[in-house]
Amino acid sequence: MVGFSAVDQHPAYGSDRAPSPAPVANETNPLLVEWTTPFRVPPFDAIKESHYFPAFQKAIAAKRQEVDAVIKNSQPATFANTIEALDGSGELLDRVGGVFYSLKSAQTNDEIQEIARQVAPLTSALEDDILLNEQLFARVKVVWQQRDALGLSAQQRKLVEEIHKDFVRGGANLSADQKTRLRAINEELSLLALQFSDNLLKETNACQLVVEKREDLAGLPENVIAAAAEAAGKAGMEGKWVFTLHAPSIWPFLSYADNRELRRRILTAYTKRGDQGNGQDNKAILVRTAALRAERARLLGYSSHAHFALEERMAKTPDQVYRLLNQLWAPALAVARKEATDLQAVIQQEGHDFKLQPCDWRYYAEKVRKARYNLDENELRPYFSLENVRQGAFDVAGRLYGLKFVERTDLPKYHDEVHTFEVKDADGTHLGVFMVDYHPRASKRGGAWCGGFRDQYIKDGRDIRPIVTNVCNFTRSAGGTPALLSLEEAETLFHEFGHALHSLLSRIQYRTLGRVPRDFVELPSQIMEHWALDPQVLKSYAKHWQTGEPIPDDLIRKIKEAERFNQGFATVEYLAASFLDMEWHVLGEAKGLDATRFEDAALGKIGLMPEIVTRYRSPYFQHIFAGGYSAGYYSYIWSEVLDTDAFQAFKEKGIFDPGTARAFRTNILEKGGTEDAMEMFKRFRGREPSVEPLLEKRGLK
Ligand SMILES: [Zn+2]
Repeated sequence: MVGFSAVDQHPAYGSDRAPSPAPVANETNPLLVEWTTPFRVPPFDAIKESHYFPAFQKAIAAKRQEVDAVIKNSQPATFANTIEALDGSGELLDRVGGVFYSLKSAQTNDEIQEIARQVAPLTSALEDDILLNEQLFARVKVVWQQRDALGLSAQQRKLVEEIHKDFVRGGANLSADQKTRLRAINEELSLLALQFSDNLLKETNACQLVVEKREDLAGLPENVIAAAAEAAGKAGMEGKWVFTLHAPSIWPFLSYADNRELRRRILTAYTKRGDQGNGQDNKAILVRTAALRAERARLLGYSSHAHFALEERMAKTPDQVYRLLNQLWAPALAVARKEATDLQAVIQQEGHDFKLQPCDWRYYAEKVRKARYNLDENELRPYFSLENVRQGAFDVAGRLYGLKFVERTDLPKYHDEVHTFEVKDADGTHLGVFMVDYHPRASKRGGAWCGGFRDQYIKDGRDIRPIVTNVCNFTRSAGGTPALLSLEEAETLFHEFGHALHSLLSRIQYRTLGRVPRDFVELPSQIMEHWALDPQVLKSYAKHWQTGEPIPDDLIRKIKEAERFNQGFATVEYLAASFLDMEWHVLGEAKGLDATRFEDAALGKIGLMPEIVTRYRSPYFQHIFAGGYSAGYYSYIWSEVLDTDAFQAFKEKGIFDPGTARAFRTNILEKGGTEDAMEMFKRFRGREPSVEPLLEKRGLK
């Protein structure tokens, strides 16, 4: 209820009905006074690290007071004095957290990380104290029981249900003893997650491949060799080359290094992380985690953790998840087997007689890709200057929804490299502020995400518009050329922009209803990738940065042809991990399991081919044991079913068809989590999603 993170675009309890935080006399902390900047953008210049902790303390106290007022209200519980009041509580905390958690990811330092560690127990205690308060739950329950008779609007009714469910899922119906046990389980689980990721980080950093002879680098591209030499220099091993288990190092090595023995060594090191019987072994930790999750699920009346987790998602039940995974598994496996045959043929052609193994797959796939499609990444980059790609994304939003993006140089920024835009609707109405922060720096974490400093909500009848960010780690400009993106980076820019549109177009009344299920939230983002790679759209934005020439048809054809390449492998390694995740979480009891044997059995059951390793083995499956994806790793492909089928609707009528765009905007993009996800999808598509377009796209039929 009070969790924040930059990737979580939907902080729970909102604040639309609470009065503005009363200005405190003599208050000097800029986080606690009214902001007078344009669009009330946080006054970044005035905010210092020393302001955060005291601001959190005051904001938490303010929320406690607001919730206390609900509890102590002598009037009978009503929608307004209980449900609406809870939804409206914590405005100040949302404001402080909005700034703090955005910058913790995008512009951090040791001091901020330390403050985060100090604040975490305070906010989680606040959450427990609210959800386990019996008097408060009693009031919520009264309104919930009367919900049919209160003449509530659809959003109000959904709000009652969501808040009631938060309490129930948080243990409000349990006996005192059970509540004590639940708190203990939650505490231990959060500790185990920390241990799991600490161990994994150590294991990932501990192992590196040091190459001493130049001939062992054969096959590797110059930029990969240069990066390895630089890493060696930093490690005091001048003249050698260091490869690590981090993504930018290991994957190019496995794709290009001719030396098979070294490929085998680095992949083995990667797959043994957290599984070496040393002080960083994660096997006991993950079994304990699965066992506690199962126990918590039983305590709360669910047959497994998967049942508990999926109740909140579009999929609803483990059966539904398995149905989709099974539907994809057999065709994916068949395509992967065919791919393996092709790779084995290349091995034979090269005069070898060994059998294809996991350490060979990426290497031979790269050879086949080059031979078959002759698509060179470096040939593409000149057409994907950052500015052109960004403008391309803005133009797509312009053609679909009539949006305009006006750059503003007068708004506060948290870093010089941030660009800020005012977003206007077709009729000129202000929709929100959009900040982009595209390049890596030491103070930013890895990856790409959409976050924000403020969510959209309605307060006292006034529509409060959001401040949304896209934060990425894209290639910088270098040596006189502008930033030239890879194809994947260009797709990522469109992806994150899709999340941003979801926030910018939001039209919801209650902030609690901004929560979107994990298996639905990638629909608005992934669908944008379809426009990014559409030939007609490519022609309009992918223009050579020097000559202004649009990307040639020949390159577009190669991009399109290469899209399906190696999809058997990609789908199988992903699905295997999704099955593994589900197997761990449909257990009713996990005490005393042997992690290795359990994993082997789970992967054996689906018949995973020996040439492919599951994308994550359990001891380094951070998403599910130390992230928010337990019984949820399937979400990416679930969302992909939705986005390919939704894009199909556009293709049927024309990819910029105004009617289809309007329907997508009003039924999906504006709705947040105000309705059941399946209902929203059906209203847009006229039926339930079909898996056919996805099978087609991935070449699985
Ligand atoms: Zn996303």
